[in-house]
Amino acid sequence: MHPIDKIIKKTEENLRLDGKEALELYRNADLLTLGSLANRKRFDFHPEKNVTYVVDRNINYTNICVSGCRFCAFYQPLEKGYVLSKKDLREKIQETLDLGGTQILLQGGMHPDLKIDFYVDMLSFIKKKFDIHIHGFSPPEIDFIAKRSNLSVAETISILKEAGLSSIPGGGAEILCDDIRQTVSPNKCLSEEWLEVMRQAHLQGMRSSATMMFGHLEQDFHIVSHLEKIRALQDETSGFTAFIPWTFQPGNTQINVKKKPASNISRCWP
Ligand code: SF4
Repeated sequence: MHPIDKIIKKTEENLRLDGKEALELYRNADLLTLGSLANRKRFDFHPEKNVTYVVDRNINYTNICVSGCRFCAFYQPLEKGYVLSKKDLREKIQETLDLGGTQILLQGGMHPDLKIDFYVDMLSFIKKKFDIHIHGFSPPEIDFIAKRSNLSVAETISILKEAGLSSIPGGGAEILCDDIRQTVSPNKCLSEEWLEVMRQAHLQGMRSSATMMFGHLEQDFHIVSHLEKIRALQDETSGFTAFIPWTFQPGNTQINVKKKPASNISRCWP
């Protein structure tokens, strides 16, 4: 039997692949085979034919950020950026609710002057005025807030949870391998720190998503390593509810990629 067929058979028998096998499959199986194997796995976990979704709005409370990620076309320095006023925040949330939304994704840059009190005040303000689920603050933000406020990650999450935070988006994972991470986002928390924020959140009963940004400087084995790290934490906590792969878009960034950017356009066939 061809080595790739052996790996496919293993997945069909519901046996777990190791990193080497996953890399082999990723590199050599055609897209339809990969899609079919993934779909089969999906039905192993969720045999019912239900697909869930949430209507939400992204609200970026600030674009001021000292991280300076090389792939980012969003951040601004202190003197040029904004911090949303409570009035703007209130209007954006009301619009979301008026359109049938039930959740906001609240994320921002790493603002050097904002400490835990700012976040507690913002969350409390929202929860006092609105009945809405707050999915907010990616692990690099939480790690940054903790360091700026002289708190542990666990303490920071507990305080934010108490103030109204309900779940955590998996942003800022990029590729969870520090050789790539330190090239594309050298001032962000390291891979283990990203995972530790998620571990602590899950231990405190919060749920989160996980992401991966690909199509920049990483190689195939980095992608597999990233997936293995997410899978290992999921084995430990069962706290991830979704995995979202982001395609790197090179426009207005400091990363030049020779490879064709991955498409971020999804298609629906009639
Ligand atoms: S942390 Fe990085 S990606 Fe996020 S706003 Fe700052 S520079 Fe952009």
